[in-house]
Amino acid sequence: MKSKAAIAFAANQPLEVLEIDVAGPGPTEALVEIMATGVCHTDSVMLDGQNSKARFPAVLGHEGAGIVRGIGAQVRDLEIGDHVIPLYGSECRTCHNCTSGKTNLCWAIRKTREKGLMPDGSTRFSLCGEAIHHFMGTSTFSNFTVVPEIALAKIRSDAPFDKICLLGCGVTTGIGAAINDGDIRPGDTVAVFGLGAVGLSAIQGARLAGATKIIGVDINSGKRASAIAMGATHFINPTEIAGKTVECILDMTSGGVDVALEATGDIDVMRQSLECCHVGWGTCVLMGVEGIDQLLSLPPVLVRYGRTLKGSYFGGVRGRSELPKYVDWYMEGKIVIDPLITHVMPVEEINTAFDLMRSGESVRSVITF
Ligand code: NAD
Ligand code: ZN
Repeated sequence: MKSKAAIAFAANQPLEVLEIDVAGPGPTEALVEIMATGVCHTDSVMLDGQNSKARFPAVLGHEGAGIVRGIGAQVRDLEIGDHVIPLYGSECRTCHNCTSGKTNLCWAIRKTREKGLMPDGSTRFSLCGEAIHHFMGTSTFSNFTVVPEIALAKIRSDAPFDKICLLGCGVTTGIGAAINDGDIRPGDTVAVFGLGAVGLSAIQGARLAGATKIIGVDINSGKRASAIAMGATHFINPTEIAGKTVECILDMTSGGVDVALEATGDIDVMRQSLECCHVGWGTCVLMGVEGIDQLLSLPPVLVRYGRTLKGSYFGGVRGRSELPKYVDWYMEGKIVIDPLITHVMPVEEINTAFDLMRSGESVRSVITF
């Protein structure tokens, strides 16, 4: 079938919106009509040539929501008409990782996913007979996409696609990292570095978990109001205090925060977020995706003195099992998403969404088809 899609032909080039061919789903796959998709920083990492696994041409996008329009013969848990959120982290429920009960990192289809291919090693997208790669196993910048059943979270049918699409990445990552990986407790002090959709959602997660002092840090003072609206009690712009962010946070918190969450992808900020954790027990959770070949260096004493450094992938959330709960939380008003959506535009204007993100003007742009 034909589908409108935004194609990345090469790094550092604008996307081109064209009509591509989408093949039907394989036996364990579903055809999904994407109704709305967010544009995440991780898409621009790929587009800016900063992803070592980049495969072009490709259909990017991993923060979507839509409706199942076709299923393969061996699909068990989905029906045509089901509302779904595509997952870049699958949940097969049978691999060693899934059955361990200790992680949301299911690697059942990771090897092919990282090559921009479906699990059978081929692609479902093509243009004039030439294969187009998938991205993160989701490719939500196509009106129709094909996703393995184990990478689709079935959700309730009354939730608005143009809002809950952000649960496919940014919002869930931030809230989950605060609650699951940060394990924030009532009364904790928290610092969040980088206030895009991920960081602002981490602030929301910290508030939900009962943190009493929440310090938002961003080099863009335009993020102050959003930070306060999401639950931050303080805001710091490092450029206004000559970069003395760590000293400032240590002063504000009698020696450091209980939990620091990083959402910039900048390795210097990653180290600062560890440095501002309280000696003896502070936990630092890294969410940001570093540039190609970048390494994090730190004096081991930082962790020897009892700080914990960990990372978070999709907020530690098991997509198929737990994402429906996040949708319920949104529908019940327990979490907010709407204030994070600063722009909505048709797919034809998707390059504007990338420009707005790079300039810091948007928090999230939502693309519709
Ligand atoms: P974004 O671009 O919307 O926001 C990043 C924010 O960081 C911006 O507000 C920017 O002003 C701020 N920033 C940049 N440099 C800074 C610095 N030196 N100090 C303080 N603030 C600084 O990005 P996003 O979509 O919110 O994603 C944030 C990061 O999380 C990205 O690296 C993204 O790739 C990553 N990510 C990871 C996961 C995961 O599962 N771990 C999921 C989604 C996104
Ligand atoms: Zn993302």
